[in-house]
Amino acid sequence: MPHRVTLIPGDGIGPELSTATRRVLEATGVEFDWDVREAGADVMAKHGGNPLPDSVIESIAHTGVAIKGPITTPVGTGFRSVNVALRKALDLFGQVRPCKSYTGVRSRYSDVDLVIVRESTEDLYAGIEFEEGTENCAVLRDTIQKLSGAVIREDAGISIKPISIEGTRRVVQFALDYARREGRRKVTVVHKANIMKHTDGLWLRVAREVAEGYTDIEFEDRIVDNMCMQLVQKPELYDVMVCPNLYGDIVSDLAAGLVGGLGVAPGANYGRAAALFEPTHGSAPKYAGLNKANPTAMMLSGVLMLRHLDERDAADRMEAAIAAVIAEGKNVTYDLKPRPDDPTAVGTSQFADAVIAQLQA
Ligand code: NAD
Repeated sequence: MPHRVTLIPGDGIGPELSTATRRVLEATGVEFDWDVREAGADVMAKHGGNPLPDSVIESIAHTGVAIKGPITTPVGTGFRSVNVALRKALDLFGQVRPCKSYTGVRSRYSDVDLVIVRESTEDLYAGIEFEEGTENCAVLRDTIQKLSGAVIREDAGISIKPISIEGTRRVVQFALDYARREGRRKVTVVHKANIMKHTDGLWLRVAREVAEGYTDIEFEDRIVDNMCMQLVQKPELYDVMVCPNLYGDIVSDLAAGLVGGLGVAPGANYGRAAALFEPTHGSAPKYAGLNKANPTAMMLSGVLMLRHLDERDAADRMEAAIAAVIAEGKNVTYDLKPRPDDPTAVGTSQFADAVIAQLQA
């Protein structure tokens, strides 16, 4: 039976990367039945100004699996981000960002292999904000001052940081299950529990309780500032990290920087009923339609999708083929050449051709 998968090409460089990735996924021999759905700035006009038509969410709810190109965040539509809206609509609470060194990708380190699991529905990132000078902000400020005795300046904006027991439990469980499934040795929970006792303190307490049920996985915790310093100094000490939303956003970009940047950083978003795979980078509009952008991050997101579909052999072969093309350094895009103006750089589709040739070698 072919796998029914929703494919969202996205906009900007998204459609080119999606075509390249789809060709490589099909070349693994795994069969797909694609449900292609449009979303993003380019299709807003067709859908009454909505960059995220309901049919996209309905398709993913039905197939349970989606792969997506990047989508430009439209300015001035009331949409904070199509990507955030998608994660919210499907309750995709666990974001996974592997950051791994590949020979041929220039970076300061050569042996990094980290996975950041980021809670992605709560925390300061939930978008509960009150603008300075508004009536609601003043009411909230008065209430907080009355309840806590804290002094908040009149000209302050206020953002709220909710972290719940259940929200923590499900993502820490997810991180430990992920570690077990992928044969990883250790999970580090990241927090600032020494300062934010009722949010990060709760997060740490619940994480420790959950970890008691996983005696086969080493479990430890780190305060987020120390975590950042240690990752830069000794990334080899770490394996899987599980972070609240905001720290996860920052720590995962730091980790992507350790392995050569966002161009090679894949991502996945998991919920109870659906999983969505997408590169970490954005739609790079200045390269749209130029057959220039590097499809590696989206292809590696495809590798994660194959693992999720339990097509592990195909996933390993696809990852090895991508790694071999990058290591050879011949048929790679401009950003993987020693200089960005290297005339031997190939385009997005030629990179895909080289990966397919490697798969079939
Ligand atoms: P970006 O990642 O699109 O681009 C930043 C720079 O990185 C580009 O100018 C380019 O030099 C380089 N780059 C990115 N991807 C590349 C690739 N595959 N190959 C080669 N070079 C690449 O970030 P941005 O300019 O901040 O965002 C552009 C748009 O994308 C915004 O509207 C933003 O909201 C959106 N965005 C979407 C997602 C998503 O869909 N998940 C993620 C991040 C940003």
